[in-house]
Amino acid sequence: MIREARYDEIVRGGYGAASLSLESRPRTRSGAMGSSRVSVVVLVGVGIVAAIASVSQGQDKPKPGFKDTPMLPGNKWHVHDSDRPHPPVVTPGTFSTEEQPGRPPSDAIILFDGKDLSQWTDHKGDPARWIVKDGAFAIRPGSGIIRTRQEFGDCQLHLEFATPTPPRGHDQGRGNSGVLLFERYEIQVLDNFNNPTYADGHAGAVYGQHPPLVNACREPGRWQSYDILFTAPRFSADGTVETPAYVTVLHNGVLVQNHTKILGPMAYRTLARYTPHGPKGRLALQDHGNPIRFRNIWIRELKEQP
Ligand code: MG
Repeated sequence: MIREARYDEIVRGGYGAASLSLESRPRTRSGAMGSSRVSVVVLVGVGIVAAIASVSQGQDKPKPGFKDTPMLPGNKWHVHDSDRPHPPVVTPGTFSTEEQPGRPPSDAIILFDGKDLSQWTDHKGDPARWIVKDGAFAIRPGSGIIRTRQEFGDCQLHLEFATPTPPRGHDQGRGNSGVLLFERYEIQVLDNFNNPTYADGHAGAVYGQHPPLVNACREPGRWQSYDILFTAPRFSADGTVETPAYVTVLHNGVLVQNHTKILGPMAYRTLARYTPHGPKGRLALQDHGNPIRFRNIWIRELKEQP
C-alpha cells in the first residue's frame, strides 16, 4: 500500500502538480528562473528521484498484484492477479509515408520487405512470377494468384497497395485484386476513387457479403494500407461450423469492417457457404488482370490471451 501511495503521489499529486505549476510560471528576462524557484525545482527533483528509487526497489519484493480479489469469469485469474503472465515485450514499428514504407513491429513475420518474393509461390507451389521493382511488386496479369509458403491461423495482417494510374476500366474492372485469407475469405482490393460499383464488391468489402462502413480510398497511384485482424472459423469434427470467421479492417487507418461475421468463402453471384478446413491456411493475393502494386507486407500470428 505504501508503494501505491507514493506512485499516486508522483503521478497525480504533489510532485507532478508542483512541476507543472513551475513550468507555467513566467521566466525572468534572461530566460532563467529566479534563485528561489531554482531551489524549489531542485527540491522537487530530489523528491522525485527518491520516490522513483523507492518504487524500483519495491519491484524486487513480491510481484505486483493481488490474490485476494474476485475471480474473473471464464478463466483461472483473480482481478489484478499477481501470477497472471505478463505480456511479451514487442518493439512497435513505424508508420509509412507515401515515399517510405514503415518498419514492422519486432515480432512480425515479414512477407515482403521490398526485396524479393521468396515468401510466396504461385498456385502450384512454383516460385511467384509477379514483378518486383523499386521496393514493391506488381501483379503480372494473367499469371494467377500468389500465396504464402507459410500458413497462418488467427492473425494481424498489414499490407500496402497502389492501384494503377492512370486508371483504366470501370466498376469491378478498375484496380481489382483481393486479399484472400486461407486462400478463400476475400477482403476486396479495388480502385473506388470516383468509381462506383455494387456495395458488397467495394474496396474494403468482405466480397459479396459486407460493404465497408465508408469509402476511404485514396487516388490511383497513391499508397494505401489495409490492417486486418482475422479470426479463423472453427469447425467441429463432423464438419459443421462451430464459430464463423470474423474480420476487422482498417483502410488507410479508417475502420471499414468492425468484427464482421464472415458467411463463407468469396463467392460471385451466389451465397457463400463454408467448407471445413484446418486451423491454418495460406494468405493469397488475387490476380484480377489489373497491375496493382504491393509493398510492406507483414503478419503477426495471434494467440489466445493467457
Ligand atoms: Mg477482387
